[in-house]
Amino acid sequence: MTGSVILVGAGPGDPGLLTEKGRSALQNAEVVVFDRLVSPAILSLIPATAERIDVGKQASHHLVPQEQINRILLRKALEGKRVVRLKGGDPFLFGRGGEELELLQENGVPFEVVPGVTSALSVPAYAGIPVTHRDLCSSLHIITGHAKAGAQLKIDFDALRRTGGTLVFLMGVSTLPEICIGLLRAGMQKDMPAAVVESGTLPSQRKLVSTLAELPQAAADAKIKSPAIIIVGKVCALSDRFDWFENLPLKGRRVIVTRPADRNGTLCCSLRALGADVLEYPCIRTAPRDPAPELDAAIETLSAYHWLVFTSPAGPALFFRRLRASGKDARALAGLKLAAIGPKTAEALATFGLTADLVPAVYDSEHLAEAMAQVEGPVLLCRASSGSDVLPQIFTKNGVPFTDAPCYDTVYESPDPETAHVWLQTPVLVSFTSASTVRGFVNSLPGADLSNVTGCCIGRQTALEAEKHGIRVAVSKQATIESLIECIKEV
Ligand code: SAH
Repeated sequence: MTGSVILVGAGPGDPGLLTEKGRSALQNAEVVVFDRLVSPAILSLIPATAERIDVGKQASHHLVPQEQINRILLRKALEGKRVVRLKGGDPFLFGRGGEELELLQENGVPFEVVPGVTSALSVPAYAGIPVTHRDLCSSLHIITGHAKAGAQLKIDFDALRRTGGTLVFLMGVSTLPEICIGLLRAGMQKDMPAAVVESGTLPSQRKLVSTLAELPQAAADAKIKSPAIIIVGKVCALSDRFDWFENLPLKGRRVIVTRPADRNGTLCCSLRALGADVLEYPCIRTAPRDPAPELDAAIETLSAYHWLVFTSPAGPALFFRRLRASGKDARALAGLKLAAIGPKTAEALATFGLTADLVPAVYDSEHLAEAMAQVEGPVLLCRASSGSDVLPQIFTKNGVPFTDAPCYDTVYESPDPETAHVWLQTPVLVSFTSASTVRGFVNSLPGADLSNVTGCCIGRQTALEAEKHGIRVAVSKQATIESLIECIKEV
């Protein structure tokens, strides 16, 4: 059976600017063929099971010629695969999207197009430049500044000047002097405001605002490189007043996020939205136990317990997995009281139609243990095999019988130590959401100098673990992601 190809615009770089439709196409893809301009954060959405084909093009020397890209798309679709062709910005704006569809159409391969947020509009917006403004211009023109090797630019500068509109040039870094001279010769004023924006919408975005006459020198002095867009027009003068991006609270700060990959979405998104440069560095992963002997045995005699305790949002789903494996269902929990360490864990229980009877006022194991010190046992603790001693100790001290039933193991991983090593050379914040993320982080970087690190920790236990490894810490007021983000903003 023939597969299909979805041409997806990935947007300009900020992963938040990928459309909903683009995201779901990516998540369902079996093959993803992508370009150089697609940012790593978006590539991280590609399912692990999907084949990735990098056809990234470097300016002037194409890594994979266009005809070959067209043939790859056709071949994979004819193999029956769901193919996503992921392109920077919008696939039809200077993206050769049309060329890629021709061969598919000729061969009867079904295709769809998911438009993307183009850099031509979004990069100016992230530089505080509205591309039109009623008082300043009445049209917008998007032009390629790319000239075929050895050839002259073919741009009608006279016509462009006469429009009086805003001009946006893509692919124009190397031809910037020619573009500016062309416009000046066509009679545009020397002091017409003009700007160049490099790596727009990304944490590394750089912006230069100058005049038409002076922009080429300013860009050369600042060593502006591709990808960058050039904007010419009076609207550029608004750039400083409207620059919201430079003023975001975490602009210029680097944060390494150590949560497991399947749980880091909210934190990474929120930090990026606040302007931070985020390195997704999942250094632990939860591996469900199958079988889970202690838990499986406890499930056989579940009605003997008074309390069932969950210390992480992963717990409830894993518990129910074992419950189903033993041939039982939710009815086996009748009469049991339920405790959750915090609101996220309580939410996880709620997805199974269950309400937690106890959530401590402060979401950590000490407060959970205190709140449970006087309960009637026996208690079944459903948690990680490497869970802290705090709960068992308090139960032992108070004579509350309990069973510690590990339902998952925490496995250490080293996602990309090379980038992490580079990031450690300058001040960097590292978010720790559990003691095991601290251990995973330290494990993944043996011998590394951690003196530039400030560990932003979700609770006291986590902070204690970080301090053990000589890491300077800041602790969030509450053990929630929202509070951790506040803590990161305040460091
Ligand atoms: N289809 C893309 C454009 C492809 S042409 C789109 O709609 O955005 C490639 C050019 O786009 C680059 O040379 C540069 O001029 C511009 N560009 C793409 N991403 C950019 C970014 N993040 N910052 C600045 N310019 C960018």
